[in-house]
Amino acid sequence: MDTQTQLMYVKGVGPARAAMFETKGLRTVEDLLGYAPFRYEDRSNVKTLKDLAPGEMATVVVRVHTARASRIGQRMGLFEVAFADISGPRLTGKWFHGGYLANVLVPGMQVALFGKVELDSFTRGFQMMHPEFEVIPDDDEAESTLHTGRVVPIYEAAAKITTRVIRSLIHHLLEAVDEQPDPLPEPVRQRLKFAPYWQSLKELHFPPAGSDIRALNGFRSPAHWRMIFEEFFWLECGLALKRVKAREARGIQFELNERVRDKIKQMLPFRPTGAQKRSLGEIARDMAAPQPMHRLLQGDVGSGKTLVAAQAAIIAIENGYQAALLAPTEILATQHYFSVKKLFEKLGYLVVLLTGSNTAGEKKHIKKLIASGLVPMIVGTHALLEEDVEFHKLGLAIVDEQHRFGVLQRLRLQRKGETPDVLVMTATPIPRTLALTVYGDLDTSIIDELPPGRRPITTKHVTEDQADNVYTFVRGQIQEGRQAYVVCPVIEESETAQMKAAEKTHTYLSGTVFPELQVGLLHGRLKADEKESVMDRFQKGEIQVLVSPTVIEVGVDVPTATVMVIEQAERFGMSQLHQLRGRVGRGGHQSFCVLVTGKLGDAARERIRTMTESNDGFHIAEMDLKLRGPGEFFGTKQSGMPALRIANIVRDRDILEIARNEAWGFVDNPPSDEALRELVRYIQEHWQRRYGLVQVA
Ligand code: ADP
Ligand code: MG
Repeated sequence: MDTQTQLMYVKGVGPARAAMFETKGLRTVEDLLGYAPFRYEDRSNVKTLKDLAPGEMATVVVRVHTARASRIGQRMGLFEVAFADISGPRLTGKWFHGGYLANVLVPGMQVALFGKVELDSFTRGFQMMHPEFEVIPDDDEAESTLHTGRVVPIYEAAAKITTRVIRSLIHHLLEAVDEQPDPLPEPVRQRLKFAPYWQSLKELHFPPAGSDIRALNGFRSPAHWRMIFEEFFWLECGLALKRVKAREARGIQFELNERVRDKIKQMLPFRPTGAQKRSLGEIARDMAAPQPMHRLLQGDVGSGKTLVAAQAAIIAIENGYQAALLAPTEILATQHYFSVKKLFEKLGYLVVLLTGSNTAGEKKHIKKLIASGLVPMIVGTHALLEEDVEFHKLGLAIVDEQHRFGVLQRLRLQRKGETPDVLVMTATPIPRTLALTVYGDLDTSIIDELPPGRRPITTKHVTEDQADNVYTFVRGQIQEGRQAYVVCPVIEESETAQMKAAEKTHTYLSGTVFPELQVGLLHGRLKADEKESVMDRFQKGEIQVLVSPTVIEVGVDVPTATVMVIEQAERFGMSQLHQLRGRVGRGGHQSFCVLVTGKLGDAARERIRTMTESNDGFHIAEMDLKLRGPGEFFGTKQSGMPALRIANIVRDRDILEIARNEAWGFVDNPPSDEALRELVRYIQEHWQRRYGLVQVA
């Protein structure tokens, strides 16, 4: 047996359990050995019942005497189990809503209990409330030293495979498998004074006697530190190699001549901000270089990324290439289409829009235009990625909000040309830790300056019962010639439900609250020309209040709109709220964002409070990441987030920074060619699949 053996063939696993492990992505011995405990319990304090003292955390090995629903605590579904050992006294374990335990803890059964010893105020006997327990089979006496009398690892169950079974299996594997060599490069290991790999792995699962339980549970024992480092190290090496490889490829060397500069000048509707100029400078430099560009353009909502993207497109187009802009939603694509079309009108460039809602005939026609090279600028959704979309000569691929696509799709668009330059745009300010992982192979430009004349938006929180005051306020603003958005909550179940909710709000606002005003409705189910007409009328001020679900999240740009009312704001993530809020505050007038919520739990209150206190997208994104964790942050599984096993980019950002420095240092300056080749081989064999690092080298 070695580390690549399938779990199915491991003694004690078999096909059924192998299938259960599979649900956690665990297939091989190596996978299971890498399955870290999510916490540890100090069960070194094993006591007999006679020696227990109230107030202490203790482990006891006892037998079930009786198990039944409590008579006194019946109403709360209290379930009581009396335990005994040979030393004399009884101990009662109590579980609220513990009825299910009747089938688990049957009289005579041996269990280990772990919990806080308390005095039962009624009987004056000992009790434990909701103790952790593990059944110890009677034929398993020899093994019980593995599960009690020490610091014990607790694993997340894999389907029906319990922590105890996992613990035994891992213990067995650590004995049965040959000691594995240390994969980390020698100099790195020495510099960071790491214990050898195999020792660290063993200690991760079975901490040595005397380990600091708090360090273990904080993921900061020496073994944790090393394993977390190592995981980040491979990820960062992968990204570094990807970047090196990208730089070796031959791309397009765009020419930056007078004609290009003139065209850009001709297009500009206003003077670019310093940050826009700097970003364009960086982009232009990349485009003129022989290597393909891989650049991320970050800028808070409203910072003027579209303008910069359009300038980049001009460079490509004036060099005889096509430029494509890929957006994650149809509304966003449509918005981009209108913005770009308006900007390019003066230049005489044709712009087309390709989305899923084009008819088959339209699609065919548009695809022909793209393939023939007659249109230089193409905007679209996922529809652009379809097999049969062929470009005549794609030179620049711009991907907006790529986290909603995933890395693979970025590649797919890229493959539609011969190594075109790639510009990724995002309005979600990306916390540095994420920038180092998800976007770690990209160069970054940041627009950290808003166009002149913007005033900070005032954000207020009100509860639903104050909605009337909000509407009065909205009316006041409209009487001064302003406009308002009302965003109704996202309904996850279906687009139809979503549309109905929006319609209901619309009916209520137009019929009851604002009968004297024009209230418009925008939702995903409208036909393209209907959407266009609603947006157009709002733009012209014919509609004063626009009701919509999140569809206006990105893109709409009306300077006289000064109020953003977000209903059930607690249902939105903070970054999303920030995006929505960025729809107002685009003119010279003071703008307002009103967050309407129901009763709030602690987490939601924290989010709403952050929103009312900060206008800083980066700060909000950091908070969001902290509160919701990396998986939720992007709100999608497709985010291209690497599946980390033990490391966590929020908790372990300090280690991430160190690992990144070590990794990039190693790849840029390997001790020898052979050492680098070895590293590449190791990553390909062990990590490529997990990180989705397509072709690291
Ligand atoms: P983003 O895409 O970054 O959210 P946009 O490109 O939509 O931002 O720009 C937001 C608004 O600011 C638009 O109305 C745009 O025309 C305007 N804008 C962009 N750059 C400038 C600038 N340099 N000066 C004045 N207004 C600008
Ligand atoms: Mg280039």
